[in-house]
Amino acid sequence: MTADHAERQMAFLFALRQRGVTDKRVLEAMEKIDRGVFVKGLFAERAYEDMPLPIACGQTISQPSVVGLMTQALDVQPRHKVLEVGTGSGYQAAVLSQLARRVYTVDRHRRLVAEAQAGFDALGLTNITAFAADGSRGLPEQAPFDRILVTAAAEDPPGPLLAELKTGGIMVVPVGQSDAVQHLIKVTRTETGYDYDELRPVRFVPLVEGMGQD
Ligand code: SAH
Repeated sequence: MTADHAERQMAFLFALRQRGVTDKRVLEAMEKIDRGVFVKGLFAERAYEDMPLPIACGQTISQPSVVGLMTQALDVQPRHKVLEVGTGSGYQAAVLSQLARRVYTVDRHRRLVAEAQAGFDALGLTNITAFAADGSRGLPEQAPFDRILVTAAAEDPPGPLLAELKTGGIMVVPVGQSDAVQHLIKVTRTETGYDYDELRPVRFVPLVEGMGQD
């Protein structure tokens, strides 16, 4: 590790802590996964700043502190099977892979799934399975899940995803009726139904039904 790299990592972790990412396992996972692997082209040099950045297909890689806060809220344990809807760059799935037994991640853009897979391969992450699929319908072949993370904003938590949560399972999902006003919601499945907690305001690209053009 060069001195530059060490300094950059320290600033990156400092920014995460300052914005409320305090869970030790989450911070360790984010220290291990190089965000630079998932940001390409023009914006590559900004990979270590706490900001969202554009990726292919008109989508965005989330802000690192938001990735940290969502991951922390999800409370992932080492034996868990996790579903992520919205692979995007693959960065969030890579962070989850450090905390869970297995991560399934889906995106409606095939191109994004292929690029994310190249990142997983480069980092030798073998416990992630990435698919091109419409995640708003869930992933029945692999259900049920201990944890579900949706990284695109839905009008309501999608029914098929709620149904694929185990009892005691948690889903974290940005919910909003418009692009401007969205809240991160934590849903816990109980023996008898679902509990909902509103966590914080966020801004995500929309969850869109059906497959993308590329
Ligand atoms: N988690 C990503 C960022 C996600 S951006 C990262 O770490 O980089 C949101 C992603 O959700 C986009 O890539 C978009 O294509 C995807 N998406 C939107 N609607 C979807 C759907 N119905 N099924 C699967 N993916 C979807």
